[in-house]
Amino acid sequence: MSLTRVTVAGWRNCGFFQKAVKVTAAIELLYPKKVQVTHIELADREKYITWLKEEKPGKNLTGGVNHTSSPIVWLNDNEYLGGCDAVLDWSRQNFLSDKKEEQKTAAGMVPDGVEMGKYDYDLVCIGGGSGGLAMSKEAANLGANVACLDFVKPSPNGTTWGLGGTCVNVGCIPKKLCHRAAILGEEVNHDASGFGWSVGEAKHDWSKLVENIHNYISGLNFKYRVALREKKVKYINKLGTIIDPHTIQLTDRKGKTETITVGRIVVAVGGRPTDLTIPGGEYAINSDDVFQMDWTTTPKQQPGKTLVVGASYVALECAGFFAALGYDTTVMVRSILLRGFDREYSDKIGEYMEQSGTKFIKGSVPSKIEKTESGQYKVFWSKGSNEESEVYDTVVAAIGRYADTSKLGCEAAKIETAKNGKIICEGKNEQTSVPNIYAVGDVVEGMLELTPVAIQSGIFLAQRLYGNSTQMMNYDLIPTTVFTPIEYGACGLSEEDALAKYGESDIEVYHKELAPLEWELVHDKPKGIARAKLICLKSENMRVVGLHILGPNCGEITQGFALAMKLGATFKDFQDQVGIHPTVAEDFTTMSVTKASGDDAGASGC
Ligand SMILES: Cc1cc2nc3c(=O)[nH]c(=O)nc-3n(C[C@H](O)[C@H](O)[C@H](O)COP(=O)(O)OP(=O)(O)OC[C@H]3O[C@@H](n4cnc5c(N)ncnc54)[C@H](O)[C@@H]3O)c2cc1C
Repeated sequence: MSLTRVTVAGWRNCGFFQKAVKVTAAIELLYPKKVQVTHIELADREKYITWLKEEKPGKNLTGGVNHTSSPIVWLNDNEYLGGCDAVLDWSRQNFLSDKKEEQKTAAGMVPDGVEMGKYDYDLVCIGGGSGGLAMSKEAANLGANVACLDFVKPSPNGTTWGLGGTCVNVGCIPKKLCHRAAILGEEVNHDASGFGWSVGEAKHDWSKLVENIHNYISGLNFKYRVALREKKVKYINKLGTIIDPHTIQLTDRKGKTETITVGRIVVAVGGRPTDLTIPGGEYAINSDDVFQMDWTTTPKQQPGKTLVVGASYVALECAGFFAALGYDTTVMVRSILLRGFDREYSDKIGEYMEQSGTKFIKGSVPSKIEKTESGQYKVFWSKGSNEESEVYDTVVAAIGRYADTSKLGCEAAKIETAKNGKIICEGKNEQTSVPNIYAVGDVVEGMLELTPVAIQSGIFLAQRLYGNSTQMMNYDLIPTTVFTPIEYGACGLSEEDALAKYGESDIEVYHKELAPLEWELVHDKPKGIARAKLICLKSENMRVVGLHILGPNCGEITQGFALAMKLGATFKDFQDQVGIHPTVAEDFTTMSVTKASGDDAGASGC
């Protein structure tokens, strides 16, 4: 095939024009000797129509005279092709013979033209965390020759860990185990006596907990390596840097490099905790260190008096378990707790934590940290016009996470990234601006940073690339739980988001205060905090668009109700189901008080 010149003209925000631009750019990238593309982009529809009239591009084209829609596409000087559909057909016929390419196009993806077996690997996942492992194993299952790179850059404190990424090593798993330790302590020290137990003051051994968690995680690291081997995925414990869309440089721990060629790349590098950039910020540890560092090297070999800086779920979860394990714990919060979550419930979490012993310094950020002679840390902050300070054994910075893409080679490969370094996958189909490079998990701009999201999007992507699937990840109604001392389960919209999206007149909120039976014989439990609400959409037969619950075991409760919401459950469906008595979850089946009524939503007996 000789060189074909393709011209695509249209207006900027026209979806069909953009699709035609993407497809032709991809074809040009893959076949530079065969295709040369020119894009003519007009600012808006009006300007495009004027341009069509004035320039009359169709005049000299065989068949294009009457073309009025966007885009108009022609080949070479005078061969009228048509609009977006014609471009897709032309691309398929001339460049994509593989049936799978058609499936991908149907799933909104730009064909990447990759041939299996042409490179060292058909697919390389950069990152062996939740998303990368799931993607690698599924792609290998479907016949691709896959490698998975996983390399942990040490935290500023030198902490590293094994295969499996954030969730297993420094996220969900150790966090939930610490939460469990905290709940056990609460139950033994506070709740058990109400049920007739006299257990005395139970003491907690931090080093024992840490040792047991590390042993458990080492077992998981091993299982992940075995699973990759069994699936015939090549595990490479080296840092990957993208040199160009088909070449990755591997760097080992000693700095030795080599390159591999690859058909498709999946970026699944996740994120890392943001550093505290104040004088002495290096004295603060982060969540990676909390869960993986060698505590025996710290003066007290345990957290001791702890300051947690931040108001994210990571900050509150860590503070929650530190406090419940008996450490004097303070949270320093600049503005609000749990930004993005339901405001009423986020504030209630703060109340619960305060009432059960966690201290809060509100409206402040640390300005510097000094190390004292005794090896502790003096933290300074401003409160109004006063400078205040306090000495802590441990300072944990939990002020957010950043995408781990700074040295990944996105620029070299021309992968479009957002200002925050995250990778842009327009159309939520996990495909980046470079057609044969994909991204899953926390690294994707606008993605919910949750393990099951990374896993499911990776599996679906593998099935689209190597199976017979067109299934896209559905990012709606994803349930989640914050594992603070009082658990908070949520699915769908917060009350604020529901009101903003649908307007006050279309939203009905049913709510109820809960009286968990497991707390009823305990006299010092914070009162009036456990609660649940259903946010319903009046114009859709009271479909439930937001579910929120604060109480014990909310992670377990929310999962089941999320399925009902996914299936379109209405308020009546919730009321029609038979409850399981006596549980807190059954309160969703017996709600009758709306917020609008202003009636008392207090808990009542059965
Ligand atoms: C404290 C904490 C608690 C959390 N709790 C929960 C929870 O309860 N529930 C939940 O669903 N989610 C939770 N999360 C979020 C969850 O851990 C992440 O959403 C999930 O791990 C994202 O998976 P991923 O595959 O995108 O990235 P990751 O799991 O972060 O994996 C990325 C991997 O890529 C490696 N890597 C990076 N760059 C390179 C490179 N250039 N070459 C080779 N390897 C590289 C990294 O070292 C890492 O191993 C928590 C996170 C944190 C920090």
